[in-house]
Amino acid sequence: MLKMHDKQKTLTIIVPCYNEEESIRLLYDEIMKVCATDTFKDIYTNILFVNDGSTDNTLSTILKMSLEYKNVNYISFSRNFGKESSIYAGLVHSKGDYIALMDADLQDPPGLLEQMYLSIINEGYDCVATKRISRKGEPLIRSFFANIFYKLINSMSKTEIVNGARDYRLMTRQMVDAILSLKEYNRFSKGLLGWVGFNVKWLAYENIERIAGKTKWSFWGLFAYSIEGILAFSVVPLAISSILGILLSFFSFLGIIFIVVRTLIFGDPVSGWPSLATIVCFIGGLQLLGLGIIGQYLSKTYLETKNRPIYIIKESNL
Ligand code: UDP
Ligand code: MG
Repeated sequence: MLKMHDKQKTLTIIVPCYNEEESIRLLYDEIMKVCATDTFKDIYTNILFVNDGSTDNTLSTILKMSLEYKNVNYISFSRNFGKESSIYAGLVHSKGDYIALMDADLQDPPGLLEQMYLSIINEGYDCVATKRISRKGEPLIRSFFANIFYKLINSMSKTEIVNGARDYRLMTRQMVDAILSLKEYNRFSKGLLGWVGFNVKWLAYENIERIAGKTKWSFWGLFAYSIEGILAFSVVPLAISSILGILLSFFSFLGIIFIVVRTLIFGDPVSGWPSLATIVCFIGGLQLLGLGIIGQYLSKTYLETKNRPIYIIKESNL
């Protein structure tokens, strides 16, 4: 394929945007400042905005920018598909030799790109990823559940899912192609990126507040996302429900023998129905829990077999 420039290599920066009208111009300027440095002198940088069904002026701002600057590309979805879909679409349409994922709100400092790029070319890494140093500035209850989530998922899954990891990272083409070979519909990129392996270097930095607009994550949104993550990267909940079933059957069987023997020896005075009722409810509850867990996996399987597209593009300048 012919390139529109004479530089040898290309860096594509993928920016998912959902209602980010105030941030994207600032972001573009910051990125271009970094890419004008000596480190990037042999690299052509283009930015691929993925407009994820924004309801504000994000799309018109991107359109204007794409006419002003020839290194601005965009894809615009037919509706909001979620950040995972935006990332996937960006990766599918990226052509660069190096590919970065960056949020639109400047919480991912573009200045780090320099260090990331140098680590890839000089130290032989395939990917330089970022994570936050601490959870400072986050509501305590959120940090509490976040820490529990990371402990849980890492104890249940062989894929390492790094606590506090951000999606901000720079990758080689080879690693991106590996990620794209995972075609699942239920995408949990924190897991997928770990699953493909490769040499990953982690940079840590203090959390930065977003420059404008507000976060798209609510507490329940994050909660549902963490369940998705566990379902996508572990089948341990299924094993737990089978083990519980086996243990319960075993102890119930011992109980039956005990009661039969006791009745044969001491007769059968009618007593203990309240305990019986609670036991019945308890077992009923456990059965529903087990069924619910199976149901969750089944529903994911159902969505996978439908084979629906992960995103639908309405317009683009690619
Ligand atoms: N985003 C998106 N689709 C969505 C929600 C978010 O493309 O449905 C984008 C958003 O525009 C931003 C990035 O994903 O560039 C991260 O979102 P946000 O800042 O709300 O998440 P946080 O940084 O609070 O985790
Ligand atoms: Mg953000």
